[in-house]
Amino acid sequence: MIATFLDLFRSFSIALALVVCMPMAAPLAAQGAGGCNPNAGSGGFASDLGADEHFAESFSLPSSGALTRLTWWGTAPDEQLTYDGTNWVWAAGLASTDFEIQFWTDSAGVPGSLIYTVPTNACILRTPTGSAVPFAPGPWPAKAFPETRYELLLPTPLSLAGGTPYWVSIAGSTPGSVPWLWSFTPAGDGSAYSSTPWLASTDDFAFCPSTGPPSDPLGLPLFARVSVKRVLGPAQAPNAKWNHQTICAWLDDLNEIYLSSNLNFVLDEIVDLQDPGVPGSWFDPLVASKAAMEHAAEADPAAFKWRTDAVNVYLVNSLKDATGGDAGAICSSPPCPTDQNDIVILGPGPLHGSVGFAHELGHYFDLRHTHANHEAPECGCGGATDGDCVDDTVDDTDPQPTTTAAQHDQNFLAFALQQGYSPAQQADILANVMSYHGSGGIFPSTAVLTPGQRCRLLTALHEYRTAVLLAGPPASTASELVRLGSPPNPSALLPGSTSGPVIGGTWDPVVDHSSFVPDSIMDVLAISTTSPGAVNVPTAIGTLLCSLAPPPVLVSTAPGQPFAVPIPDDCELLGTALAAQALSAAAFALSLTNALDIVIGTL
Ligand SMILES: [Zn+2]
Repeated sequence: MIATFLDLFRSFSIALALVVCMPMAAPLAAQGAGGCNPNAGSGGFASDLGADEHFAESFSLPSSGALTRLTWWGTAPDEQLTYDGTNWVWAAGLASTDFEIQFWTDSAGVPGSLIYTVPTNACILRTPTGSAVPFAPGPWPAKAFPETRYELLLPTPLSLAGGTPYWVSIAGSTPGSVPWLWSFTPAGDGSAYSSTPWLASTDDFAFCPSTGPPSDPLGLPLFARVSVKRVLGPAQAPNAKWNHQTICAWLDDLNEIYLSSNLNFVLDEIVDLQDPGVPGSWFDPLVASKAAMEHAAEADPAAFKWRTDAVNVYLVNSLKDATGGDAGAICSSPPCPTDQNDIVILGPGPLHGSVGFAHELGHYFDLRHTHANHEAPECGCGGATDGDCVDDTVDDTDPQPTTTAAQHDQNFLAFALQQGYSPAQQADILANVMSYHGSGGIFPSTAVLTPGQRCRLLTALHEYRTAVLLAGPPASTASELVRLGSPPNPSALLPGSTSGPVIGGTWDPVVDHSSFVPDSIMDVLAISTTSPGAVNVPTAIGTLLCSLAPPPVLVSTAPGQPFAVPIPDDCELLGTALAAQALSAAAFALSLTNALDIVIGTL
């Protein structure tokens, strides 16, 4: 007869049931400090829909709040024991990659009513712990399986009452898989396992519920501020590449590439920075200076226009590596030391242009190269041991410094054939944002970030980068607000005839002369940027509502004809607030109209 791994667990279950059905000496006690019960690295037990049972653990929050994330530890074996009639042997099996995770109320010490089932497509970050969990010794060859730390960002934070016991059940749910094993913890006390009714067990399983940091639910768009600094060279100019049109176009490309991650980049500013020269040139910096540059900027934010609430991107003239070669661009990963975990430096020619920019921001959100399996372990990702720390990207080949992109592509294709990678797996690497591939080019429309990479970057965002997030979508709708002033001017300046002030468009407000200066010989529109909405100076010709310092932009037109105000196609202007006011001139008099306080938008 053939016995399976499952049978084995059934026999364990019977033994366990014999133990736990006896009266318990004490009621179930509270879990470990802070409700967190970390793993012990001492093995685990099957908790899987395909096994006889799956387990639930109790927890309570110290005060009422929203549960935002859940961490737990376990092992997904891809082999199972079978009995071949003579011996127990290990045979290949399917590892469980999916979970059923449910939250329950407490009912007299056991799970009560179901509160919430986590959607099966929720993002679960998987990180190898480095521990190998040995399978229980027996009449079979010794075997150990790698343990994984799982972290779930709840798609919808779960509001729970403080000091109240709840239960969470975690079960492997991949059909036909080898049962998933939930790791034990030395913390905690007691649990319940799924049968009907719930039966108590003396096992304790490793998990940590968490209410922080505050996070936007996954699935909703997130908006990250970007502060772009153009470093000026000796000629007081940035590299010619870095005009506003390029910067705007690259931001658009970023948003196309990250659209599927629900992550949007919002250009907060483009500022020019005179090369600070500390610790060396920022116009032509060296890769090796990265940490020193970030250190200097963080020590004196004003001098370096450094922001703590935005992604700091420095656009430079060139970026040289140790051999004098062009490094393209650099960034660091968030778990790295604090003087090298934030700064993004872009030379004018990163690989694949704007996709190279997306690559650096991938690093900013803790994505690693697809060939990280050939790199040294770095800051929280095991490199050679664990590849890029993302499950659904296969191992890439090593892009040696002397390997051309075409050779790198060819090397990978040969390796992929050898490894039996599927066409989809190959495509995910060859067009991956975090690869060095793409001899034929990688474009915003073809650039790939896999679901595993998106999960990793979103998890890093919530763990390390919430400071750069906007609370919600930025205003993108143009607005025109009538302001009469005090004393009030005639309400004669009408909003745009065909559209509001839209980037790349022509704004066309008009003076209505039906009762205002009917004998006007010319209309002039003044547009000022200083304190829109704040200026109110009574004068002999009406109340001045528009600042004259610095001098406003002036546009004139024939009486009653719409003004034609071109709005530059520059994404930096999005959200800019301005005040506009018209002056009409008759033969012997000037008269001021109301103001229009405007905000430049995209529609
Ligand atoms: Zn890189």
